[in-house]
Amino acid sequence: MTAAPQYVALLGATGSIGRSTLDVIAASAGRYQCYLLTAHQKLDELAAAARQFVPRYVVATDTEAAAARDWSDLPADTELRIGPDAIAELVAHQDVDIVVTAIVGRAGLEGTWAALEAGKKVALANKETLVLAGGLAMRLAAERNAQILPVDSEHSAIFQAMQAGKSSEVARIILTASGGPFRHHSLEQLEQVTAAEALNHPTWKMGPKITIDSATMMNKALEVIEARWLFDMPSEKIDVVVHPQSVVHSLVEYVDGSVMAQLSPPDMKLPIQYAMSYPERFPGPARRLDFTIASAWEFQPPDFDRFPALLLGKEAAKRGGTTGAVLNAANEAAVQSFLDGEISFTDISRACRAALDSHDFDPNPTIEQLLALDQWARREVSAWITCC
Ligand code: NAD
Ligand code: MG
Repeated sequence: MTAAPQYVALLGATGSIGRSTLDVIAASAGRYQCYLLTAHQKLDELAAAARQFVPRYVVATDTEAAAARDWSDLPADTELRIGPDAIAELVAHQDVDIVVTAIVGRAGLEGTWAALEAGKKVALANKETLVLAGGLAMRLAAERNAQILPVDSEHSAIFQAMQAGKSSEVARIILTASGGPFRHHSLEQLEQVTAAEALNHPTWKMGPKITIDSATMMNKALEVIEARWLFDMPSEKIDVVVHPQSVVHSLVEYVDGSVMAQLSPPDMKLPIQYAMSYPERFPGPARRLDFTIASAWEFQPPDFDRFPALLLGKEAAKRGGTTGAVLNAANEAAVQSFLDGEISFTDISRACRAALDSHDFDPNPTIEQLLALDQWARREVSAWITCC
């Protein structure tokens, strides 16, 4: 490697995507170096990553947890900053080449937003930013000349398959879904699902929020909305197919009927690396497909009766405006309540439906309006849980 290294700001370095990103950086033969690593609570892990990667800064966003820790184990060349506001300031620094947004949920919005405002190359894992405020985020990216490269494996697959033709030649995009651990459950069985069962995903090892989202198929609903904004695709041209092996990561059908797909084992290191290296490719640490072993890949249509979250995603992708923000926040609140044992698994979609039905729709909201609605939808879910 003779070219100068590219400096990476990694937001959410201790999570599932964060750790895989560090694996990609470690295997990049000096192509990437860490400028900034952030974490919320696993601060010993953050300090360990800082000792290995020696970033210019670490940010510990949970101020109480950060104040309670002795930070003398940080490398001498790494400066500690405490509190979420430091993220927005540091990602905008001129030395930062790539911002990987791997914070989970609504909490990831500010860092992603600051990176877009600063015109950075953004490797976007935090799909919630696009669900909450996709129209505004895409406009901001265009105004500031920021690039958004998808980390989500389905969107990475679509992005790669779309390079086979012009976007005006795309007839539809087809997102694959593993179907989660309960794809064979009856409605009655789904009512009884426990948090421990839902946290055990068959093909992907991920953080708890997205693991529950995968089990309800809300993750695919959020991904339909993400695809709508990322690829400027009307919701009628976005379909979902269940593919339990998670090898075909998504498909693009062109107007002539040709279908292009991207295939690889379920390993997030590949889409993370591609988002960082685009438009180039280089050998990386992701696992490879092995065609010397017999295998079979299945495809089934999704069942909207058992997984009604999918309908909510289609509806929000179609209506746009304020619907994504309400769905995103209601889902985050409902998932937390399910994990806390307050509501059943099937109540997650019911709570989201109720919040969507009772909100005042606005087709052209501002970001301030969307953030206020985010708070409103969380209160609405609490009230729904109390009364129902
Ligand atoms: P995770 O729970 O494993 O990690 C979350 C990270 O965010 C941690 O580093 C944590 O410290 C940080 N964080 C949590 N709360 C925070 C807060 N309030 N403020 C600041 N930082 C906070 O999550 P994950 O599975 O790595 O997912 C991260 C994002 O990537 C999500 O938006 C998810 O939808 C998306 N994504 C994940 C996968 C996957 O395979 N895990 C795949 C596609 C997309
Ligand atoms: Mg995905």
